[in-house]
Amino acid sequence: MTRQGDDYQPTTRLIHGRMHSAAWEYSHHVVPPISTSTTFRLDSQVRGAQGFRTYGHEEESGQPIYIYDRLREPNKDLLEENLAMAEGGEMAVTFASGMGAISAVLGVLLRAGEHLVAHHTLYGCTHSLLNNWLPRFGITHTPVDLTTPEALREHLRPATRVVYLETPANPTLEIVDIAAVVAEVAAANAARAPEERVYVVVDNTFATPFCQRPLEHGADFVVHSLTKGISGYGTDMGGVVIGPRTFRDRLLLYRKDFGGVLSPRAAWSILVYGLPSLAVRMRQQQATARELVRFLANHPAVASVSYPGLPSFAGYAVARRQMIDYEGNFAPGSMVFFELRGATPERQQEAGIRFINHLARHAYTVTLAVSLGNVRTLVEHPSSMTHAPIPLEEQIAMGIRPSGIRLSVGLEAVDDLVRDLEAALEAAQVATGAAS
Ligand SMILES: *Cc1c(COP(=O)(O)O)cnc(C)c1O
Repeated sequence: MTRQGDDYQPTTRLIHGRMHSAAWEYSHHVVPPISTSTTFRLDSQVRGAQGFRTYGHEEESGQPIYIYDRLREPNKDLLEENLAMAEGGEMAVTFASGMGAISAVLGVLLRAGEHLVAHHTLYGCTHSLLNNWLPRFGITHTPVDLTTPEALREHLRPATRVVYLETPANPTLEIVDIAAVVAEVAAANAARAPEERVYVVVDNTFATPFCQRPLEHGADFVVHSLTKGISGYGTDMGGVVIGPRTFRDRLLLYRKDFGGVLSPRAAWSILVYGLPSLAVRMRQQQATARELVRFLANHPAVASVSYPGLPSFAGYAVARRQMIDYEGNFAPGSMVFFELRGATPERQQEAGIRFINHLARHAYTVTLAVSLGNVRTLVEHPSSMTHAPIPLEEQIAMGIRPSGIRLSVGLEAVDDLVRDLEAALEAAQVATGAAS
């Protein structure tokens, strides 16, 4: 196979990949077949022994010897190659879910007694992993507002090995300047021995690699929930870690023993449907998001709109630098966060609840559901849903706005989305008297 596509555009390569595995000849298929074998025939004891000896030592061995799905198999290998290309990384290792990928990257970078710094706003389960599970293994963390990267100077300890962040962050879309964080960490690393260096890990789920590639800004690792924008259709769960080649073996061995493998069926559908349609979905969803932002910002029931493409948004200048699509255009993404008016925090929360209940009962195009990056427009109200157990005053102290609505924009016609949102905004406004 000579046409491997290395000198073609990323958007073209997302569709075609290499379409070739050295270990499995199927060069006359247009679509790679689904591999559903959990175990693989070994020609002899020698091949079996060689397979186990070389697994996790790929640098020396070249062609993979497939043994057992949990070690590796062709569909995941093909997907991993294409995901590495999408982020401009040297290698990718997939996992059963986004949380599987996040726990794996932290698992290979941190040991007992070590420490990480994490951006203060994080996806809920990542927050729980850092607070409820890693401390049981002697790993502690400090939450820091990384929108001011200089804050790292007072929080990087000798035992710190990881700086972890999301940008745009869930759910408020706060933007962290990746290059500025990398510069702070590089200054600290200059005085450290190689085994004591700090790594920068970025969760790029909200942006997708179409809108932002953190490795280009100097980050060491990218993690994704493949369940979201990369998969795109809401049919499969998955996660991935992308980073330096030298970490591939450790991640494969970690995956082998902790066991969080992506199913070949999920790998296949992300390879065949998700990645090839990523660019066209994101371009369209982003164009719709921009129109919805304009509509929301001018609506009397809306108090504020957060969107990386909005010049009045706090993170706009940094977003303009780091959220860039494969063609070089500003790519602020398809996630929108907005607040509704209300005289008091209680009234604001009530407006949020009425708004999503109205959508849940009456809307055709907007679905009340968690998750994001779906071809269907999804909406959720963090204050009364994901963060409901936390008292309102504490929510406000944490930066959770009582009326804040997270909108993940899908592929529906923009006029239809406006129609459903408009009706729900009116219902919320009438109920709370916000217009008067
Ligand atoms: C959904 C999500 C995750 C977790 O991914 P799963 O596939 O659900 O395990 C992690 N980070 C962010 C930002 C997410 O949105």
